Amino acid sequence: MERHTYDVVVVGAGGAGLRAAIAAHDAGAKVAVVCKSLLGKAHTVMAEGGIAAAMGNRWPEDNWEVHFRDTMRGGKMLNNWRMAQLHAQEAPERVMELEDWGALFDRTDDGLISQRDFGGHKYARLAHVGDRTGLEMIRTLQQRTVELGIDVFMECTVTDLFKDGDAIAGCFAYWRESGRFIVFDAPTVILATGGIGKSFKVTSNSWEYTGDGHALAMRAGASLINMEFIQFHPTGMVWPPSVKGLLVTESVRGDGGILKNSEGKRFMFDYIPDFFKAETADTVEEADAWYEDKKNNRRPPELLPRDEVARAINSEIKAGRGTPHGGIYLDIASRRTPEFIKKRLPSMYHQFKELADVDITSEPMEIGPTCHYVMGGVEVNADTQESSVTGLYAVGECSGGMHGSNRLGGNSLGDLLVFGKRAGDAATAYANGLGANRPKVSDADVAAAQASALAPFEVEGGENPYSIQTDLQQSMNDLVGIIRDGSELEQSLVAIEGFKERAKTMKVEGHRQYNPGWHLAIDLRNMLIVSESIAKAALARQESRGGHTRNDYPKTDPVWGTKNLVVTLNAAGTGVDLAEKPLPVMPEELTKYFDAAAKPEEGKN
Ligand code: FAD
Repeated sequence: MERHTYDVVVVGAGGAGLRAAIAAHDAGAKVAVVCKSLLGKAHTVMAEGGIAAAMGNRWPEDNWEVHFRDTMRGGKMLNNWRMAQLHAQEAPERVMELEDWGALFDRTDDGLISQRDFGGHKYARLAHVGDRTGLEMIRTLQQRTVELGIDVFMECTVTDLFKDGDAIAGCFAYWRESGRFIVFDAPTVILATGGIGKSFKVTSNSWEYTGDGHALAMRAGASLINMEFIQFHPTGMVWPPSVKGLLVTESVRGDGGILKNSEGKRFMFDYIPDFFKAETADTVEEADAWYEDKKNNRRPPELLPRDEVARAINSEIKAGRGTPHGGIYLDIASRRTPEFIKKRLPSMYHQFKELADVDITSEPMEIGPTCHYVMGGVEVNADTQESSVTGLYAVGECSGGMHGSNRLGGNSLGDLLVFGKRAGDAATAYANGLGANRPKVSDADVAAAQASALAPFEVEGGENPYSIQTDLQQSMNDLVGIIRDGSELEQSLVAIEGFKERAKTMKVEGHRQYNPGWHLAIDLRNMLIVSESIAKAALARQESRGGHTRNDYPKTDPVWGTKNLVVTLNAAGTGVDLAEKPLPVMPEELTKYFDAAAKPEEGKN
């Protein structure tokens, strides 16, 4: 069996993984990056809008305090305050560093990095490259990774973590092409595997988002936090069916696009919650004037945080005011010139032209909510990103806490850079401190990991993993989706138990060389643990807040605003245990940014 020794193994080559690997390398570690698709194909590459960082290039009034406040308010105060603070303070430096490494951002007239408006951010704050920011970010990080000579194992999936006592000792993986196994001996593993969107039928996420890092961490004994909070992005494509769920960037609204129902009404004015009333325009005149004069006007309601807009769209569709294909209209054609649209939103123009035969410079788009991002993830130390397992770190979308109950647009890319660097630094410091005293991988654990990976080939006459996956995705969409209800969540947990039973006897045909059925059988185990974590936490949280809306508990409850839900794997390893945990207490010097009116008031979500 192929075997390698490193100081730091980073699982995932999105923005978080690459930034962590660069930091670990710069701090003197021998580093490997392992990723299950080709280098450069992570979700980060799909990010369109930009990186949120209070650089003050368009608004000198902007600073880390305002960004911190916006982030906490967007997350309905459930964020880990320390992560939100570090993120707001360090994001500008991380963006400047990307520029030093060759990233070519769009410019202001003064030659500074351009910053655009996004929902929930008080000031134009997203550093961007047209609507292809993620592509430029990945290009830059990837180039630097390669220049530094960091080893990359691509098309290689990690299936198990190894421990020696309580500490990480390495991980187990297989080459997707040959099916051959690899053991990594390493005292630190940084999980940077991204999200969980493939557990839902309608999603903007790709095949890679099967919650592997979340499940690997749980199986190693770490906890997950905030798993009930799933971001349903308000604007995904709804037609044609083959592209249902594909993202339509928030930049369309940031650049002037408005939402209309089938009666032609600009309906978002009917959905402004009290929590955001003071800073949201309540007339069309003021909303439109804001694009030209942001100082003297309040923001349009189309730029409320994503959870608010997604719920509003959902309500309009449910009330029978949807489009022919079950969405809502997003109109930029009647508001901006074709030249403006093609310059600011080139990807959107091509996406609709090529996939839906819609010219967005002359027709409205049809859009609807799509599962986009998981706020929940591995519970980590805010400063180091270390989990409760020694030597195990998590960063980026697979970590939890930073975004609370709802992430603001642009705050993910900033999160990847800020905490990627922190995780790489911390993992290296720990590995260096071990000297010759490194945890060891046991032969028995390697044999067990191999047997577990090969188990689906051993089953006689079992079920195809694709049919289980399809049923799981439908069930999560129907029962754990954007609007939830206690009885449906209970049904979902019964359904998940059924899928778990079926998965015990799933069968894979053929051999180990590039076998997508086998790959899915391995991923499905992770999807099932993650889905159970989401459904259990969603059932327990009896209130509505951010990315968790309960029909039967429609109000935001201040009591729930004081605690997080944390999930772990049960002792038998067969299911999920759930516990409540008080929020970390925010120090007084930060509470001053939130007056009483800033707290999500009882009775509104
Ligand atoms: P990813 O970039 O997804 O990388 C995950 C990596 O883990 C991949 O390399 C994958 O191969 C690897 N991996 C997974 N499992 C395994 C395994 N078992 N073994 C080995 N490797 C594994 N956020 C913003 O801030 N601004 C935006 O404008 C924005 N736009 C978006 C647009 C779209 C269409 C989408 C889908 C998301 C957008 N987001 C945006 C969110 C943001 O892009 C993601 O949250 C972020 O890129 C996640 O980065 P990551 O490094 O955590 O994971």
